[in-house]
Amino acid sequence: MNIKKIKKIREGEFKSLLKNVPVAGDEEGIIKIYDRRFNLMGAEYWTAGFFNILDKIMKKGAVGILYNSGYEIGKIHFNWLKGIGIAAEEEFIGKYLGLLKFCGYGNINIASFDENRVVIVAESSPDGIEYKHIYKKKRKVCHYLKGILDGFLSSLLKKELTSEETKCVAAGDKCCEFVAKVK
Ligand SMILES: [Zn+2]
Repeated sequence: MNIKKIKKIREGEFKSLLKNVPVAGDEEGIIKIYDRRFNLMGAEYWTAGFFNILDKIMKKGAVGILYNSGYEIGKIHFNWLKGIGIAAEEEFIGKYLGLLKFCGYGNINIASFDENRVVIVAESSPDGIEYKHIYKKKRKVCHYLKGILDGFLSSLLKKELTSEETKCVAAGDKCCEFVAKVK
């Protein structure tokens, strides 16, 4: 796996989206990326505020709901990119990270990649930063982002991966870090 190539593809995809996709709704209130509907959501309520609300209602179940929702969405995103004709692994990951960057997830980098263990660093997770900003309680909060990355990589590598968020900006770290391992 060529990590530098992934970063280059991520930047290319980000710049291409920036050039070709409107960042606000048109006259009909529609935003489309790769012909799919998108809508803007504030990080303060998706997912930082949503996590806070779920946490009050569900207690520990909140983590599982966000993670598992993300996981299923990550798988859907993989199939979606597959449908537009992407084949190489680096291109899959690079384009997905470019899309996430375009959607406001900041710079997400692959720090190391081998068959059974992938380390991912998110420099400015919107979930983590908004949670820290609003709720000020030190904890790891990027369960949705962790889920979409796990779901996406599990589909790509054709094995079930599960991550631990080893660092989180909301817990006081400089960045968020996810260590994904084969289950
Ligand atoms: Zn985090």
